[in-house]
Amino acid sequence: MKREGIILIISAPSGAGKTTLCHELMKRFPNMKESISYTTRTPRCGEVHGQDYYFVSRDEFQRMIDADAFAEWAEVHGNLYGTALATIDEARKNGVDLVLDIDCQGARRLKEQIERCVYIFILPPSMDELRRRLESRSSDPQDVIDRRLERAAAEIREARWYDYIIINDQLETAFEELSAIVVAHGRRTFRMLGQVAKLFDI
Ligand code: ADP
Ligand code: 5GP
Repeated sequence: MKREGIILIISAPSGAGKTTLCHELMKRFPNMKESISYTTRTPRCGEVHGQDYYFVSRDEFQRMIDADAFAEWAEVHGNLYGTALATIDEARKNGVDLVLDIDCQGARRLKEQIERCVYIFILPPSMDELRRRLESRSSDPQDVIDRRLERAAAEIREARWYDYIIINDQLETAFEELSAIVVAHGRRTFRMLGQVAKLFDI
């Protein structure tokens, strides 16, 4: 039996740095993959179908909802986003650690539905710094940035029910903290027993 993959749920107000941190995670932990969500939003410059998201029409998304194909889904900034149930089941079964970059509503729905996921909330050091990061990323127009900032205040209140909170001030420190959480969950007894049984014939 393969060790069960870790399912890591990472939420953050847009601009807090979760994409940056998740990319670093992939580099440090070769067994870790980013879950690819379905979305009805249009691709940003450079985004690739099947790599960043599966970009689908609203009709197609609705068909997946009707078929109970999603572990969770939510409407974010006027677009629909969802994680397929099959994505989580396959990762767990194949011993692949999976990172889900999903919003708070989706994370909460997942917590009600699926056991043994690890919930991490990434915060910026301040609202001013969040604005600065959103503007420096310059991938969104000003009205979208303003909407994201408004939403951030509400999202931050959701941090209280997550398992871990990381404040992404210095990137290196935040990344070390995130890595420590991943290592610790990899050493949970139920994940180690298979290896221990082989080593010690128990
Ligand atoms: P998110 O995925 O949460 O929307 P990104 O990872 O795209 O956020 O980060 C938003 C911007 O902030 C990017 O330009 C990124 O390079 C920058 N950034 C991320 N973390 C830090 C940090 N610790 N210090 C300064 N800038 C950061
Ligand atoms: P973006 O459009 O910037 O890529 O993502 C916007 C928001 O949608 C982010 O807060 C991100 O976490 C969230 N999101 C991305 N994929 C999913 C998903 O599959 N489910 C849910 N609930 N939210 C998602």
